[in-house]
Amino acid sequence: MSSPPLDQVRPAIRAMAGYTPGEQPADGQKVVKLNTNENPFPPPPRVFAALQAALDERLRLYPEPGSRPVREAAARAYGVAADAVLVGNGSDDILTILMRTFVDPGDTVLALRPSYSLYEPLTTLQGGRYEECPWGNAGALPVEDLAARNAKLILITRPNAPTGHATPLEAVAQLCQRTRAIVLLDEAYADFADDNGLPLLSRHPNLVISRSFSKSLCLAGLRLGLCFADAQLVREMHKVRDSYNVDRLAQAAAVAALDHREDFAPLVAAIRHQRQRLTWELRQRAFDVIDSQANFIFAHIPPGRRDGPGWVAGLKARGVLVRHFTHDPELLPWLRITIGTPEQLDRLLEEVDHLRADNT
Ligand SMILES: *Cc1c(COP(=O)(O)O)cnc(C)c1O
Repeated sequence: MSSPPLDQVRPAIRAMAGYTPGEQPADGQKVVKLNTNENPFPPPPRVFAALQAALDERLRLYPEPGSRPVREAAARAYGVAADAVLVGNGSDDILTILMRTFVDPGDTVLALRPSYSLYEPLTTLQGGRYEECPWGNAGALPVEDLAARNAKLILITRPNAPTGHATPLEAVAQLCQRTRAIVLLDEAYADFADDNGLPLLSRHPNLVISRSFSKSLCLAGLRLGLCFADAQLVREMHKVRDSYNVDRLAQAAAVAALDHREDFAPLVAAIRHQRQRLTWELRQRAFDVIDSQANFIFAHIPPGRRDGPGWVAGLKARGVLVRHFTHDPELLPWLRITIGTPEQLDRLLEEVDHLRADNT
């Protein structure tokens, strides 16, 4: 057998590791899945009804290329203009579109450390230079440092992943004023937080906001995201997205979800309540837990013989998946735990107690 022409692959691709998503066990496997920040509750009935209504012979037709019905529903839901909204195949697609619209080879993309671990591989794919600034004290945004770096695109996750903290909005506004860079506020978790950046949009034309349907809107399996930005920027971004980047079924579900956001309010309230409970329970068990504004908590393991990988493996052996980040040594003693149902969190705490007893 002759070997494939791997030397034809772009050197940047050969050199990169690629993004590692959280483990997705096969359907039907019995695990308590607290590792990828999905919503533990099913989508509301009105979303299923919309999907069912879209399931007919029209599937042979391409979807509306620019997702206009979704943009109009987003305009109704958020009080913005429909042409100031772009729809993505997940908010990860929005991130790719931003990279392709604003980043030339060699341009600097700037993010905070730690934040969403997909930003670096996306920058590398685009040929950009990825730089990180550490968060300031108590999760403050290092405005001076960020503004001084001459970046093309600055990525701020708010609430942040994996820490869960929400950096003050005034600092985001200050940064937008101090830089000519595009400032992305990645608001995948905004529905679980006390506030969000949408009110800043009209005052800062370089501000772009992304949202996801995967967490608060229970639709990670359909792949849907939104982007809010100045209409002139959105017009440029339309040029680089895939022609039909959001399929018919996803568009139908998105419209139903956006037109009935009230259906999700009790689910979000339950998750916020369980977040408070889990934070308290883990602190009782000597974990150091950061106050979270998202649908997960970031917890430093308690002192003892068992290290971070030991906790992750121990929980997994007992049927509980949590997320662990091994690319940054500083994150090794930390677990990111998705807020599940009350029953799932009971199970988690039971297994935590078992492992702690086992540790002595
Ligand atoms: C989950 C997540 C996304 C991606 O969401 P999708 O809509 O599922 O692509 C983007 N940014 C952050 C910070 C996330 O945690």
